[in-house]
Amino acid sequence: MIVRDGLWEEIEPWMLGIRRAIHRHPELGLDTPHTQAIIEEALDRLGISHTRSIAHGVKAQLGPEGDDAILLRADMDGLPITEIPRVPFVSEVTGRMHACGHDCHTAMLLGAARYLKAHETQLRRPLVLMFQPAEEGPGGALPMIEAGVLENPRVTQAAMIHVSDDLPSGVIGLREGPAMGGCDDFTIVVRGRGGHGSAPHTGVDAILVATAMVQSLQSLVSREQDPLDPLVVSVGTIHGGYRENIIADRVEMTGTIRSLTATTRQRAVTRVREIVEQVAHLNRAEVELTIEAGYPPAFADIAWTRQVKQILERELGSDYVTDIAQPTLGVEDFAYVAEKVQATILNLGIVGEGFTTGLHSAGLLIDEKALRYGAAAFAAVALGG
Ligand SMILES: [Zn+2]
Ligand SMILES: [Zn+2]
Repeated sequence: MIVRDGLWEEIEPWMLGIRRAIHRHPELGLDTPHTQAIIEEALDRLGISHTRSIAHGVKAQLGPEGDDAILLRADMDGLPITEIPRVPFVSEVTGRMHACGHDCHTAMLLGAARYLKAHETQLRRPLVLMFQPAEEGPGGALPMIEAGVLENPRVTQAAMIHVSDDLPSGVIGLREGPAMGGCDDFTIVVRGRGGHGSAPHTGVDAILVATAMVQSLQSLVSREQDPLDPLVVSVGTIHGGYRENIIADRVEMTGTIRSLTATTRQRAVTRVREIVEQVAHLNRAEVELTIEAGYPPAFADIAWTRQVKQILERELGSDYVTDIAQPTLGVEDFAYVAEKVQATILNLGIVGEGFTTGLHSAGLLIDEKALRYGAAAFAAVALGG
């Protein structure tokens, strides 16, 4: 069992040191030079060759030459949250925190790298380590793919780990098929014609038109969508009008569309456009709709996920591997990797002693004992895949 290897006694404190160093200094978006420097220094010490990909991403490589490589991915960025001080290695940057566990992901991938360097001759396939910034937006995976992270060597299978506040510490949950949602954001600007509140017939009330759109968009979910294939259309903001006795000439709304499959996503985007335009036309108003495409839905390849599950049961123990029954509409930009190669997502439980609140919250406390399991899981996939 890989997780029982005595080498982890050396790797674990080293890996936790890296996690804490990253935790103290969270960086946002694509701007992750400090985290990049920590990764590069660790890889240099291990004698693992690496290159920069986009400005602050890192691609490292070990194992044999050739193609048919396995890729393991960790994200590097934090969130604009001020951390509640609960640990000695609390964030030293006000307004920034590793509240999504990406510090752990990067540390675990480096922990796995150290383990795999010591077992490099046992790697049957080339291995690519992908350290990417900007998972929380604007996205680092797609630009790294465009910069060639899946080529030379050619990657055919990939895995990532994300910490989970739904599972006990060290337990890894997997799901086959549709795993995570896709997300598109929209802005609707309704243009009517202003007028006196006492004479509405002289104007075109943008508020009435906007509310008709909100109602009609909900029928898209409730009357057109298969209830077993999730779709969320939410209008999150609505602004318009001047005062109580003026017919509003302009309303602006923003919202989000979330779905679990590429087909539903495409259909929803098309129907939102049709509904908004038709409702505007019917009510003599004009409309401008902008849809900003976000991350696509993430699909976990069924055969590869089953294979990884077997590997993990063997190398971590079956008590540490579980099925995840429900997909989530949360998004993940590893989905771009999953569009290109067979991919799977490992959800690593971090709920241990002292845990009170979940990911993206200022008081998040991750049980660090989970990191050994995550690193061992990365190593097991590389050696067993
Ligand atoms: Zn997050
Ligand atoms: Zn995250």
